[in-house]
Amino acid sequence: MQIPSNNDYDSQSLTVEEALTRIYDDLQPIAGNEQLAIRNALGRVLAEDILSKINVPPHDNSAMDGYAIQGTDLPADGQIKLTMVGTSFAGQPYPGTLQAGQCTRIFTGAVIPDGADTVIMQEHIDKQGDIITISSDNQVGQHVRPTGEDIAIGQTILKTGKYLHPADIGLLASLGIPEVKVKRRLRVAFFSTGDELRAVGEMLEAGQIYDSNRYSLYGVLARLGVDIIDMGVVLDKPEDVEQAFLAAADCSDAIITSGGVSVGDADYVTDTLQRLGKVNFWKVAMKPGKPLTFGELKGCAFFGLPGNPVSAIVTFYQFVQPALRYMMGQTNLNPVRVPAKCLSYLKKHPGRMEFQRGILTTDEQGKLLVSSTGKQGSGVLSSMSQANCFIVLPRDCGNVEVGNEVLVEPFEGLI
Ligand code: AMP
Ligand code: MG
Repeated sequence: MQIPSNNDYDSQSLTVEEALTRIYDDLQPIAGNEQLAIRNALGRVLAEDILSKINVPPHDNSAMDGYAIQGTDLPADGQIKLTMVGTSFAGQPYPGTLQAGQCTRIFTGAVIPDGADTVIMQEHIDKQGDIITISSDNQVGQHVRPTGEDIAIGQTILKTGKYLHPADIGLLASLGIPEVKVKRRLRVAFFSTGDELRAVGEMLEAGQIYDSNRYSLYGVLARLGVDIIDMGVVLDKPEDVEQAFLAAADCSDAIITSGGVSVGDADYVTDTLQRLGKVNFWKVAMKPGKPLTFGELKGCAFFGLPGNPVSAIVTFYQFVQPALRYMMGQTNLNPVRVPAKCLSYLKKHPGRMEFQRGILTTDEQGKLLVSSTGKQGSGVLSSMSQANCFIVLPRDCGNVEVGNEVLVEPFEGLI
C-alpha cells in the first residue's frame, strides 16, 4: 500500500525562481527597431533614451491667480502700496519690465514679467482702483514655478526599455517630440495540441471538448501587443506536431503550445523539442502547471504550456509574459505582490509554489482582503474568470488559516 504523502516535493522540479532565472539567462531582447509617431508608440518599448531639448515649463510662470511683484518691495512689517501697470495672461505675457513700486495682474500659467520674481495670491491683497495693498506675511519667490522645474534641458526623461504608457505619450508631447524609436513587434506563434479538441463553431462528438486555451492565449497575447500567429489545433501525432513546430519556427520569435507536455503516451511536445531543438527544463515545482517545457527551437524561444486551462493561463502569466516582455526589450519585470488578509481557509501541501485564484477587496479602512474563488482544480477555468488576483503561496508553506496574511498579485493596474 502506498503511504499518502502530505507534501509535494519533487527533486526533479525546478523552483519557480530557478525556472525564471534560466529563462532570462537563455533569452535575449530581439534586435530590430522602428520609428513611430508617438501615438502609435503606445504600448511599445523604447529603443532609445529620450533627452529633453527644452525646459518644462519653458519660463518662470505663476502657480496662482494674483499679482506679480518685485520681492524687494515686500515690507519687513506693516503694508505697502504698489501700482498696477498691466496684466500677464497665460499665453499673453506682460510686454514691459516691472519697476520697484509696481505690480501686474497675473494668472495661473502666465509668464512672470521681467523684473518680477514673486506672486501674491489675489485673496491676500486689497485693491482700490490701480493701487494694490500688500501685507508683510508673504515670502520672496513664492507661487512661482521656475523654468525647468519639471524637466530641465538635457535631462534623460525616458530610458531605453521603458514600456510606453499613456502618460509617457503625453510626456513626449510636452517635450515637442513627434516620433520615437521603439522595438519592433515580437512575433508569437501558438497552437493547441490534443485529439479531443474542437474549435468553437464545430459540433462536439463523444469525448471531445472545445479548445479554450487558444482563446485565452489569444487574449493575453493581444494585450501584450505582439504580432499573433494562430496556428490552430494540432493532433497528437508525432508527424503533425513536428510539422507544426517547423512551420511555427519559420515565422516567429517565440512559440507557445498548450497540452501534450506531460509524460503520457500521447504527449509529444517535449520529445519533439528534444529532437528538433533544445529542452532547457520541463518540470517546475508549482501548482497549477507542474509540467512546463522551456527551450529553444531553431532560434525561437519555446514554451510548452500544460493543457489544463487554468495551468495554461497561470504558467503564461508567471513565465511566458515576463519572458516575452524581456524579449521585447522591456525592463522592470518583477510582478507587484502585496500582503492581504485572507478570508478563506486555503488547503496547501508544502513542496510546490501555488497560484490560487482570489478575489481582492478592501474593508472600510481600505485594508486589503482576499477570499478564494472556491474550487482550485486546474481545469476549473471559471475560477480564473471570477478572480481578480493570484494568491501566491510560497513553496514551503502549508495550509492557510482564516485571518492569516498572504501575498496577492493583482491582475490589473491602471496602466
Ligand atoms: P494535456 O496537457 O494534453 O495532458 O491536457 C490536460 C487536460 O487539459 C486534458 O483534460 C485536456 O483535455 C485539457 N486540454 C488540453 N488542451 C486544451 C485546450 N486547448 N483547451 C481546453 N482544454 C484542454
Ligand atoms: Mg493532450
